[in-house]
Amino acid sequence: MKKILIAIDGPAGSGKSTTAKLVARRLGYVYIDTGAMYRAMTLKVLNSNVDPADETGVVALARRTTISLVEGGDLRVFLDGVDVTEAIRSEEVTNNASLVSSYPAVRELMVAKQREIGSEKGCVIDGRDIGTVVFPDADLKFYMVADIMERARRRQEELSGSGEELPIVQVVRELAERDRKDSTRETSPLRKADDAIEIDTTRLTIDEQVEIILNYANEATIGHEEMQRK
Ligand code: C5P
Repeated sequence: MKKILIAIDGPAGSGKSTTAKLVARRLGYVYIDTGAMYRAMTLKVLNSNVDPADETGVVALARRTTISLVEGGDLRVFLDGVDVTEAIRSEEVTNNASLVSSYPAVRELMVAKQREIGSEKGCVIDGRDIGTVVFPDADLKFYMVADIMERARRRQEELSGSGEELPIVQVVRELAERDRKDSTRETSPLRKADDAIEIDTTRLTIDEQVEIILNYANEATIGHEEMQRK
């Protein structure tokens, strides 16, 4: 069966990561969480004596950083050989990630790595610029959206799961700020690729989101097999 590359972009809390992970599992594909890479880079900045607003300092640090994603049941994220899977989900990392990821040279380094991992096909990649910049030729592109209140509710639940209780108004404010930064930056802003399929997940269950993408994936792989048979 032909293996394809599936790109899933969208704002925070739109359901990308959960969906991408499950779709990858069902297809036996590799899952690449590009947000986790920018988060790991942000954690490194916060742990070093570098001001996240100091572009030159952040870029120099990025050149001396190794980030790897390791599959094995769940995806684990390693920063210079140390497992930071949980640490990169903190509020502090989340709130500084947009700034660190706005630097073109940081993005260049991350994108090179993402292209290297994704070149094998048979993978599901989620992020903000996958369908537009990283893999503009992806076989399937999705753009997930959801109402901000629903996204905030999901994010609040996720934070609560890791012991951080935040009032919903604060979560909404932080999400709106992250949306603004991610979609207005100069390099690779968050934007729907012209050929991406938009999925509004506000009223969908995770299973429904997964099924929608799997249906498209089946169609894409079967369509390809039929073409080869002709
Ligand atoms: O997807 P996640 O919320 O984990 O991403 C964290 C941050 O990393 C985003 O808010 C965004 O600033 C940045 N990011 C990016 N490009 C990507 C993925 C994430 O700029 N492809």
